[in-house]
Amino acid sequence: MSKVIVVGGGAAGMLAALSAAQEKADVLLLEKNEKLGKKLYLTGKGRCNVTNHCTLDEFMQEVPHNARFLYSAITAFSPQDMMRLLEDCGCPLQVQRGRRVFPVSEKASDVTRALQAALTQAGAAVRINTEVESILTQDEQVTGVRLRGGESLSADAVIVCCGGTSYPKTGSTGDGDRFAASLGLRVEPRRASLSAVITEESWPAELQGLSLRNTELTLTHGKKCIYQQTGEMLFTHFGVSGPLVLEASCHLPEEVSECELTINLKPGLSREILDQRLQRELSATPRRQLGSIMPSLVPARLGEVILSLCGIAAETLCGQVTRKKREEIAAMMQSLTLHIAALRPIEEAIVTRGGVSVKELNPTTMESKKIAGLFFAGEAIDVDAHTGGYNLQIAFSTGRAAGRAAAKTRES
Ligand SMILES: Cc1cc2nc3c(=O)[nH]c(=O)nc-3n(C[C@H](O)[C@H](O)[C@H](O)COP(=O)(O)OP(=O)(O)OC[C@H]3O[C@@H](n4cnc5c(N)ncnc54)[C@H](O)[C@@H]3O)c2cc1C
Repeated sequence: MSKVIVVGGGAAGMLAALSAAQEKADVLLLEKNEKLGKKLYLTGKGRCNVTNHCTLDEFMQEVPHNARFLYSAITAFSPQDMMRLLEDCGCPLQVQRGRRVFPVSEKASDVTRALQAALTQAGAAVRINTEVESILTQDEQVTGVRLRGGESLSADAVIVCCGGTSYPKTGSTGDGDRFAASLGLRVEPRRASLSAVITEESWPAELQGLSLRNTELTLTHGKKCIYQQTGEMLFTHFGVSGPLVLEASCHLPEEVSECELTINLKPGLSREILDQRLQRELSATPRRQLGSIMPSLVPARLGEVILSLCGIAAETLCGQVTRKKREEIAAMMQSLTLHIAALRPIEEAIVTRGGVSVKELNPTTMESKKIAGLFFAGEAIDVDAHTGGYNLQIAFSTGRAAGRAAAKTRES
């Protein structure tokens, strides 16, 4: 029987430990927090968007980075497999808009509870309040772990599931990166992914709290369009956030200073049709002030900003708006441009990019190519995806692959 130690009791660690235990390994899951799945409790605003009920091809399209590496793990343990597992453990699920899957109870704690019950049933041992300080190896083979405090535990296999570096209070403090680097593995630098954006312009702050729906957002780098999508976004005191912005941020290059976001408030209308509509509104009420008709076209506060960006007073009478100014207003409604100053601090990102390079790992087993018996899973690996349940599924699928393979280390 292989002795498997799993470091980190988040989504990846729980699946890794469960999978290894189901393969009859002697499993010990070590978690430095006082409970398992601390980050999981925060997911989906406490509702936990646990996976996405999509096909493999659809899944891969939501992974902008290192998707090919994940192909084998997601094929072997798909979103539908994860849904079955959770329902079998007593956590009924529901599929919502965009095929997003949530517990029927809409409580993230129910996902953790179900996985914990499954771990107990499968015979995996769990030690909380236990921090791993280093991974022990000999002759490029894992031999165990050393705990903070000095105690050493031996193992045939160690699965590192320490997460990334965002929301560090949940325990994700980059320990996996440190372990990998100290063993000579290549570690890609961490960066925020799924992050809100700080803009050079200050006018978004005037619109703080305003959320836009059915808006088209285009991200450009120089002249190149690198992302375009329609959906929801939000203005904040520092710039912009919301689902569209978070998703766009995954596509940003490292140097963001040449990148722009362009907001089209009327993606369904051609410029000509929009201009005709504006012209109709203006000529129907020539004696009204321009500012008073803007709310019929865009949210009121945004209307004020648009007029100010066009350099036209809200008090101007509709009948006095020149054709040039009218065309400028229509153009502004379809191309409100924001220059990206920076991403919000990495600690606030929903996920982080970077971590153990995929080149270091076998994509079927998640085992290190250099150190036998050493596995990685979840956000510890340099993979990340869009919002929609894909990131948790990556943690589950890679955890599953690592757990099953680690259980067989004695045989190999
Ligand atoms: C606010 C928020 C909302 C999110 N919502 C969603 C969502 O709805 N759907 C979705 O798919 N994704 C969501 N995500 C992303 C998702 O939570 C992560 O991708 C996922 O948790 C990664 O799982 P993991 O197990 O790899 O890492 P983590 O969940 O970070 O778990 C790592 C664990 O390892 C432990 N650990 C670290 N170092 C050590 C050590 N040295 N010794 C012992 N233990 C250690 C940590 O304490 C932690 O418990 C969200 C993220 C955030 C921050």
